[in-house]
Amino acid sequence: MKLYNTYTNKIEELKPIKENTVTIYYCGPTVYNYIHIGNARPIVFFDTLKKYLEHKGYKVIMASNFTDINEKILKQSEIEGISEMEVAEKYINAYMSDVRFLNADDSFLKPRVTETIPEIIDFIKGLIDVGAAYKSGGDVYYRVSSLKNYGQLSNRKTDELIQGARVEVREEKESGLDFALWKEFPQGINYPSPWSVGRPGWHTECCVMIHKLFGGMIDIHGGGADLIFPHHENEIAQNESLYHNRIANIWVHNGRLNFGQEKMSKSLGNVIWTKDLKCDPRAFRLLLLKASYRNVVSYTDELQDQASVEFDKINTAFHKLFLYLDVNNLFDDSVNTEESNNFMKKFDDANDEDMNTPNGVTVINDIVKEVNLELRGKKNPERLVSLYNTLKEMLYVYGLDSKLERMNEENRKLYNDWNLARQNKDFEKADELRKQLIDSGVEL
Ligand SMILES: [Zn+2]
Repeated sequence: MKLYNTYTNKIEELKPIKENTVTIYYCGPTVYNYIHIGNARPIVFFDTLKKYLEHKGYKVIMASNFTDINEKILKQSEIEGISEMEVAEKYINAYMSDVRFLNADDSFLKPRVTETIPEIIDFIKGLIDVGAAYKSGGDVYYRVSSLKNYGQLSNRKTDELIQGARVEVREEKESGLDFALWKEFPQGINYPSPWSVGRPGWHTECCVMIHKLFGGMIDIHGGGADLIFPHHENEIAQNESLYHNRIANIWVHNGRLNFGQEKMSKSLGNVIWTKDLKCDPRAFRLLLLKASYRNVVSYTDELQDQASVEFDKINTAFHKLFLYLDVNNLFDDSVNTEESNNFMKKFDDANDEDMNTPNGVTVINDIVKEVNLELRGKKNPERLVSLYNTLKEMLYVYGLDSKLERMNEENRKLYNDWNLARQNKDFEKADELRKQLIDSGVEL
């Protein structure tokens, strides 16, 4: 399988460090608020990537962190009148319920800054020992000039960065590019260290968590494209200084989701919280999957409506097929026709090429067409079961799946009676039976 590597600017073959296992880390949220649908994009993308790799037979170990101490959290605790820990806990829970709402697997590893402090302090000590960091007052800064090839990921040259007006120069730093590894912080949650009572810097936590969880380099480091500079650049710099590696073989970044032509932001008042999505969250997933993950997506209601209509078609066909196989007792995991194999090959080919999910969605729609034709036509059992098995797997990989339950004997009898009543044009009885079926939880 190939993925676009931001580090090399090339589409590269994924060659796992450990055979048959793929390790993934993507930067998670600072937990001081709900997440908007732009923040949901990496959740959906990396969940899809993980499921696809598992579909290909890899064992996937994925981690995503929580930044659970931060000035924004402290500020929010003052607004809400609760402690920092309570704010963090509240928004971690909200985040996880959004993850599940988005039909994403919630079983990834979830390291937290507050659980990684001793390791972070050791890491900073190590950087000072090798001359890559220095103490200034109660703070510790990374010395960018200590690393020759700083700027590899974002393709920036140190000279240009220094000249750039956006880098603020402060007296406590040797250079405007240097960034804080440890900050003296007298208020709120803080920790003793050799330098001051304070808190670690954001860029340090991810390096340390990755090292703690995986013990060395990982296969894929991900996150939104807005994290390339400075966050990921600075993660790499610290790791290069101490461990002489770039953390991950492949750096994968998803594009932003805009609201129309504008950036989605609270200050512009155009934020849609994930929890407030009006559509089926799987239809939102489909909207994202219909775009290349690296491209910017401009979210509009119209675009969402189109994706919702398309999702309904897919979902309805899958439901109908499930119901038909259920009533006729046709389920069989082992059935696999050549036609289904060909569909699956097309789906795999699309995803193997840098997760080309728009092409993957086309394959799903092609199967849906065949399912509808077969259900209206010959109803060949082998073909239907095989199309079902294939479609089910693809919908699972893309997170468009439904958890459908088979009918019990009683409901199956009701269902057959309902069909009989309809055939006999006994509409009154049919309506009554239909109501009974729906009341007992059968989705028709
Ligand atoms: Zn990070």
